[in-house]
Amino acid sequence: MRGMIGYCGLDYERCDAYLATIHDDQALREKTAKLWSELNQAPILPEHINCEGCRGNGAKTVFCESLCAIRKCAMEKGLSTCGGCPNFDACSTMQAFVSQNPTVLENLK
Ligand code: SF4
Ligand code: SF4
Repeated sequence: MRGMIGYCGLDYERCDAYLATIHDDQALREKTAKLWSELNQAPILPEHINCEGCRGNGAKTVFCESLCAIRKCAMEKGLSTCGGCPNFDACSTMQAFVSQNPTVLENLK
């Protein structure tokens, strides 16, 4: 299993919020905030774009910290990722997520 993946299997080394944070790249924060504001129809500001990955102890976006149902569920089950979940094949949340992000299956092996 890859090291820098979220509970869902997303590779956060490719996430603009993660990249903006570790490189302290203000231009990327501003670009990402604008894009995420449009995608989520919510007032996301550059100062909200700080994340060191959803499985670590460091900074997280509001979505990762408080809103993501996958992260919350896996943490409650004491799992390091959904890849270790006995309910994985029957989980409608992850089925829907995988249909949108098929590469996560490889990352969760
Ligand atoms: S916060 Fe949720 S969607 Fe984002 S990487 Fe973590 S588990 Fe995946
Ligand atoms: S039930 Fe679904 S979201 Fe929860 S840990 Fe298992 S696979 Fe992940």
